Amino acid sequence: MSNTLLIAARLDRVREAMRQASAEALLVTQPENRGYLSGFTGSTAVLLITAERLFIATDSRYYEQSTIECPDFELVPVTKSFLDTLPELIAGSGAKQVAFESDHVTFADAQAWMAAVPGVEWLPTKGMVGELRAIKDEMEIQALRDAIALGDEALMAGLAQARPGMQEVELAWIIESYMRTHGAEGIAFDLIIAGGPNGARPHARASTDPLEAGVPIVIDMGAQLRGYCSDLTRTVCLGQPRDPDRFWTVYNTVLRAQTAAEAAIRPGMIGSEVDQVARAVITEAGFGENFGHGLGHGVGRVVHEQPSLGRVSTSVLRPGMVATVEPGIYLPGWGGVRIEDIVLITENGAEVLSSAPKDPII
Ligand code: ZN
Ligand code: ZN
Repeated sequence: MSNTLLIAARLDRVREAMRQASAEALLVTQPENRGYLSGFTGSTAVLLITAERLFIATDSRYYEQSTIECPDFELVPVTKSFLDTLPELIAGSGAKQVAFESDHVTFADAQAWMAAVPGVEWLPTKGMVGELRAIKDEMEIQALRDAIALGDEALMAGLAQARPGMQEVELAWIIESYMRTHGAEGIAFDLIIAGGPNGARPHARASTDPLEAGVPIVIDMGAQLRGYCSDLTRTVCLGQPRDPDRFWTVYNTVLRAQTAAEAAIRPGMIGSEVDQVARAVITEAGFGENFGHGLGHGVGRVVHEQPSLGRVSTSVLRPGMVATVEPGIYLPGWGGVRIEDIVLITENGAEVLSSAPKDPII
């Protein structure tokens, strides 16, 4: 399917969601939702979607770009401010009930809009487009596959150069520059490279500490490519581990938890049920207290989106959803082990899209 047809299909789905919410129009301000529904790649614009018409309000920096990228949208020029343009935009659409993304708009902006356009009913909605985005179409899945392959490759390129004594930030830069010079528009998030005790903090940033031989090093990284993010974690050890008993016990427990969860995933499962599969393995091994975060999260235009695979997740898994599976064990003073893949939920299970090796000894 062409991009135009895919966007048309997304618009059909959002219009169905609008009908169910009794909204004649939807104002889209969240940047990733805006790009998803229009193809617009600039930094400033607001969409207004009705059952029949499509509007994009943007300023002179983007008049030409929006006409090219969003040929089906009517351009509403923003000459002073968006707030000044809003009454004209809403009046032009004829809508009397206007839904907006209350989980993205600030309270101050929402108040200003309501004051500027008092004659319509403003309907706060949460996650209307985010829920649609959870199920990826073929173009999105291909972009994700490519972003994931690039991330896998960048990690291997980094590990080929990793040496004891190298600073965490140096290794981070090798991996980041590989991604940026091999097709990524950028990184999905600041890289985590956390050796030894630093790795006991699940979201430690890369520091100037030197990498040491024989201790676990957590590397969590992702590329952004054609608007889609990858997210990959591997835990490695430069040379043989200093305390092999503990290292292998922890490492193999995390790996078994991940493998069990990936094998258990089926459409129709609730996110928390998948978390429970991995958590049971870790708890049985005696490390339940050391796995503090959820098992995984959806990934797409942003690195954390729907569905959730957390402990309290109520997300129902559906074919076409893409999520991470990333159990971890964190032992203060010693370090951490986390292993993260991205999986695509299929009709009868899950396809693991990440392919970086899981042999930790470098
Ligand atoms: Zn990650
Ligand atoms: Zn992740």
